Amino acid sequence: MLEVEGLKMHFPIRAGVFGGVVGHVHAVDGVSFDVGEGETVGLVGESGCGKTTVGRSVLRLLKPTAGRIRLEGEDITHLGNRALRSHRRRMQIIFQDPFSSLDPRMKARDIVGELLDVRGVARGAERDERVEALFERVGLRRDQLSNYPHEFSGGQRQRLGIARALSLNPRLIVCDEPVSALDVSIQAQVINLLMDLKRELSLSYLFIAHDLAVVEHISDRVAVMYLGRIVEFARAKDLFENPQHPYTESLLAAVPSTDPGRRQRRRLLQGDVPSPINRPSGCHFHPRCPYATEQCREEDPQLKPVAEGHLAACHLR
Ligand code: SF4
Repeated sequence: MLEVEGLKMHFPIRAGVFGGVVGHVHAVDGVSFDVGEGETVGLVGESGCGKTTVGRSVLRLLKPTAGRIRLEGEDITHLGNRALRSHRRRMQIIFQDPFSSLDPRMKARDIVGELLDVRGVARGAERDERVEALFERVGLRRDQLSNYPHEFSGGQRQRLGIARALSLNPRLIVCDEPVSALDVSIQAQVINLLMDLKRELSLSYLFIAHDLAVVEHISDRVAVMYLGRIVEFARAKDLFENPQHPYTESLLAAVPSTDPGRRQRRRLLQGDVPSPINRPSGCHFHPRCPYATEQCREEDPQLKPVAEGHLAACHLR
């Protein structure tokens, strides 16, 4: 469904009266992964690691500095806005904060039907029928169709965002922290809805989150990002039971577990994420890594296979 190869997103830093470029923020720095048909790939990491930038680049809301993005085999990396229009139907996004992503002046029926109107996909009675069907499919009631966003609860607003994202029958949905603004009890309901929709509609998800417990539940495979790069990529079960990168180990330390094996292996993460402007030499994780050696300070480890279907970027593997 989606192939991303060597994706880079560098933002220039300008300073001085003439706004000259004095450096770059390496928000995403050579990321490669794929998402299969009907698959969910989780993208995790601390805030500022570049995962949201990856999601937006994939949707071509940002123009990548380098790399390649293919959707169903077609290269969309350099397409202009006009050519992108037809592809945009196939990929949609669900945002973290449903309140700020929904127009407060629009009625729910118009929020869900807006993309149908803009694309001229359905009009009149057919459009209304589709909106009503989407509304019910995401668990909202028909008598709420004329309500405004503020009349819905947080979970209902996220359902509204999901209905809108589904309106053009997409194949791939980028879910950008879709439940992190919701109460824990509501999170489970929204996650279950997303999983049901994936099964029914054969959707593919790129699921961006910092909460590993949520990612473990929903993902088939998981990629862990640190300072703009993927440091580990594996099937969810393998990654959670047998993490190969010290950063993944540390992230997992924060996830409650009843498995004593899991608990024993874990060390809590020390320090903050370094700046993506001034990245540490060698392995970017070395200032925080309890196993760092001289080699780690000097050489940048490459992402390589450490077991079947399991990649990690660490000199110790
Ligand atoms: Fe730690 Fe070295 Fe592995 Fe980096 S390469 S994660 S510093 S052991």
